[in-house]
Amino acid sequence: MNPIKNLKTLILDILFPPLCLNCRTHMEKEEIKTGMCWKCLNGIVLNSSFFCPICKARLPDGIKTCHKDSKYLLAAAANYNNDAVKNIIWHFKYRGWQKLQNILGNFLTGYLQTLNTNFEAFIIVPVPLHKNKQRKRGFNQAEILGKIAAEHLNIVMEARCLKRIKNTATQAELKNHELRKKNVANCFFVENPDLIRDKNILLIDDVFTSGSTINEAVNVLRANGAKKIIAFVAAKAS
Ligand SMILES: [Zn+2]
Ligand SMILES: [Zn+2]
Repeated sequence: MNPIKNLKTLILDILFPPLCLNCRTHMEKEEIKTGMCWKCLNGIVLNSSFFCPICKARLPDGIKTCHKDSKYLLAAAANYNNDAVKNIIWHFKYRGWQKLQNILGNFLTGYLQTLNTNFEAFIIVPVPLHKNKQRKRGFNQAEILGKIAAEHLNIVMEARCLKRIKNTATQAELKNHELRKKNVANCFFVENPDLIRDKNILLIDDVFTSGSTINEAVNVLRANGAKKIIAFVAAKAS
């Protein structure tokens, strides 16, 4: 950091001491670097299993099916119903707090280590944003998470094959499951099917709530020849 920016940060920190983004208490120096106080951070319990994407039930070790008609498995590092988790994702996504990717990265890698699954034969595909939305936000949160997972697993990320061709309303603004489903209908397109044909895919996104966006992406990937699909998110709502 340059000295002027350093000084500016110091003055701002004195005038407006950084607060934990979850409980709003003052933070110590090391906590500031992370963005959250240790108490809130240590209160987050990571998952250690796969889930059924239809009923969201936890799948016991070695069991890969619950609802037989589900076309994919759900892997979710944390629970979106935890306020601290929700706040991390919200500040990361809508406030652009890039430093939070370290916490989220630790969620992903910590969770992956508990899964006892070999992902060598998978490629990573992040759920894309529409280009207008990505331009406005400046980044795609799913791609940032995908990059962390790809590096950790030492597998390839293919971020250019799945495109979002409809600039849909933000799913979080739509409360009803049917509206969400309709909102994302036909919003994806596979530009280069050769990149995904016969491949196992780890489809990455930040959150899984109603599942409509991921279901839509899974259908399109499947229609273009993808084999096994695991949807991998930082957090899922219960
Ligand atoms: Zn806190
Ligand atoms: Zn189920």
